[in-house]
Amino acid sequence: MAKKPLFQPFGTDFDLMLGVMKDPDNHIVRNASSMRGCYADKTALEELVEKGDPVHYEVFEKDIPEEYGHLRICISRLRMGTVGGECFMTRGHYHAVPGTAEIYLCLDGEGYMLMKTPENDCIAERMCPGRMVYVPPYWAHRSINTGGKPLVSFCVYPGEAGHNYGDIEKEGFPERIYLREGKVEIISG
Ligand code: MN
Repeated sequence: MAKKPLFQPFGTDFDLMLGVMKDPDNHIVRNASSMRGCYADKTALEELVEKGDPVHYEVFEKDIPEEYGHLRICISRLRMGTVGGECFMTRGHYHAVPGTAEIYLCLDGEGYMLMKTPENDCIAERMCPGRMVYVPPYWAHRSINTGGKPLVSFCVYPGEAGHNYGDIEKEGFPERIYLREGKVEIISG
């Protein structure tokens, strides 16, 4: 019986200042146009799309099997800015295997990890360099940049976790984060 060859160990380099992985296998780029449905002010988002559809966030990944036992890693780099006063955010997701957690270690920038349960409990946990946020199983999560430079974080999650964007797209998050006159405001609804 031929044995499946073992996955090979590897190392990888990060530029912690820029918030990039130097040799990613996947580099996912999400522009403003892929953020439809996320912001309260739809007109402001369409204006941003019209004005060149700028990059919203990037995710750098290594090709690690999406299997139980492995750990998937990524670096995410969310740009600064607002859409009708609402701070730039990632789309957010549940895990396809909902009972799986995730760790985010913030490397640069400032913001929040917004998390919610299917029952609509919602918690915004602050992110700043050196701060880790634990996203427990069953919580949808989205990061939000409230600062003046990219919000960069390193994340680790179980190989089998997968992504479920559909449910949170339908539900939405019960809280929104705005930047008004330099002040962060967390608003329900
Ligand atoms: Mn996740």
